[in-house]
Amino acid sequence: MNELKEVLRATLGEIDFDPNELKARYLSERDKRLREDANDQYIEVKGDFSNYVDDPYAERIEREPVFDEVEIAVIGGGFGGLMMGGRLREAGYEDLRVIEQGGDFGGTWYWNRYPGAMCDVESYCYLPMLEELNYVPKHKYSFAPEIMAHSKNIAKHYRLYDNALLQTTVTGMTWDDADEKWVIETNRGDRFKARFVAMANGPLSRPKLPGIPGIDSFKGHTFHTSRWDYDYTGGDSAGGLNKLADKKVGIIGTGATAVQCIPHLGDSAEQLYVFQRTPSSVDVRNNRETDPQWRESLEPGWQERRMDNFNILVSGGDQDEDLVADGWTDIFRNLTGVAAKTASRKLGRRLSSVEKGALMEMADYKKMNTVRARTDAIVSDSETAEKLKPWYRQFCKRPCFHDDYLPTFNRPNVELVDTAGRGVDRVTENGVVVDGQEYELDCLIFATGFEVGTSYTRRAGYDIVGKGGQVLSEKWTDGLRTLHGLQTNGFPNCFFLGFTQSAVTVNVPQSLKEQARHVTYILDQIKARNGKTVEATEQGELDWVAEMNSKAKMGEQFRAECTPGYYNNEGKTGNPNGFFSFAYGAGPLRFFEILQEWRNDGTLEGCEIR
Ligand code: NDP
Repeated sequence: MNELKEVLRATLGEIDFDPNELKARYLSERDKRLREDANDQYIEVKGDFSNYVDDPYAERIEREPVFDEVEIAVIGGGFGGLMMGGRLREAGYEDLRVIEQGGDFGGTWYWNRYPGAMCDVESYCYLPMLEELNYVPKHKYSFAPEIMAHSKNIAKHYRLYDNALLQTTVTGMTWDDADEKWVIETNRGDRFKARFVAMANGPLSRPKLPGIPGIDSFKGHTFHTSRWDYDYTGGDSAGGLNKLADKKVGIIGTGATAVQCIPHLGDSAEQLYVFQRTPSSVDVRNNRETDPQWRESLEPGWQERRMDNFNILVSGGDQDEDLVADGWTDIFRNLTGVAAKTASRKLGRRLSSVEKGALMEMADYKKMNTVRARTDAIVSDSETAEKLKPWYRQFCKRPCFHDDYLPTFNRPNVELVDTAGRGVDRVTENGVVVDGQEYELDCLIFATGFEVGTSYTRRAGYDIVGKGGQVLSEKWTDGLRTLHGLQTNGFPNCFFLGFTQSAVTVNVPQSLKEQARHVTYILDQIKARNGKTVEATEQGELDWVAEMNSKAKMGEQFRAECTPGYYNNEGKTGNPNGFFSFAYGAGPLRFFEILQEWRNDGTLEGCEIR
């Protein structure tokens, strides 16, 4: 026991808090929020709510349906689709078609144009294909319009607009057993064939609404943050929402999206009510312009090196230098295996797993104490500051970084309506009710996030029918079954990019980059071997599921003690469709290595080319 104290002191310095008290507080805050209905509390954006996903950014362009054939169809024109398309073009594939629901490329950055939208992972790592396009972002953290413009530039550079079907939603995908091709149907009446399909439909692409009684009765204006209505608010993604000057605005949700747009709403609205269920952890952002000298100094290969350096550090690995040096790498250095390595160096011996666990828990309390202290330091009203404090461990929810969010609560026209973990009681014709008090609103904005934890096919919006009429949703009822997350038996020539039993990375584009590379390799192998189809074998799939299961349980206990959110399936761990049940438990570094080793081996173990 004394030795453990020594380990903690050697690594963290004096412990000036009572960990038992903090743990009890965390658990009681979790208990306040646990709900039996978990994911079912949310409303799907369909039927009466389908207008919430109408595209406010583009006029619908009429066109004739297509009934042709392509070699490769890429479903989704976001970062996954862009990287897939780009890599394929680089490898010489000409006959390809991107199908995208939005009016342009960009995916999440096409839809999420809310004021203040910016990437919260360093742009030099986050924006794809910077060197290929000879581009360096203007800021350390890019704003949404620049990311959207870059997406369009990638599409132009790789000629992905050619043959693309924009403003088009796939409604069905069926394997033709005789022809050995996919038949793709869309909401535009298209029915075309593709030999290969890459699914790049994104993990958090389907907005969701809170199941608040009376939500459909509100007579004022309303929209979801991923479909921002600038006609109503005025201004643009940089703010200046001048049409809100005489409006009472309410926003439900205080996650990563809300943290970015609330400063602009506070700036522009006559009155802003922020309805909070669980506060976010909001740390320092410190965004800055790109240093021209640094830009000039970049050597070929810089982006991949930087991405790798970041990925290693945020996966608990060690690097001599922290190139990104921001809030993300700081958290990981202090709260993960790296902290344990530092402690063990200081003590001159390895730590036991109990010591490691205790160290990380204490480091977490310490870190969250600084986040809470930041709230006190910035928010002048002490009651409001108290309500804005997060009482959970750092990785229970997505950490946020912002320098203008907390100061917004010092504005006289901004009121935090904390619901003490219960959420809003009900919505009326005129506004929102919390604790028996009605807040009259002209406009109610939902910053309530996206579907996670529902089935893959529900989020995609259609089912996939494979060999012999096998339906993907049925195959995956009890959880995903894939080889490396990319292929599944019975569904030949179909590749799943994203978080389907693969690596969950802080820098999502890195994962998509590796997947696009891997799929391109497999397609090259088919060509080299004069094959027609490629399919995961049953054994290959079984082996990967076994590998996933042997590792995936990591973190279950941690998440069970967390306040609910999409990271822990709204408090119901064990959901086979949950966010982390898709994640390879040994982490992204090992996952990328496995893919690399598989390619080096060249035998295509676990899949078959015919
Ligand atoms: P989240 O799911 O993170 O947040 C939804 C918010 O809605 C939560 O605060 C939630 O509260 C609240 N909420 C839900 N139901 C109710 C209710 N009935 N009453 C009151 N509040 C309610 O969605 P976001 O859009 O904020 O973020 C989603 C993800 O998108 C992020 O985690 C991140 O991965 C990504 N993102 C990335 C950005 C980037 O720069 N790269 C920027 C923005 C988002 P509670 O916490 O209690 O559930």
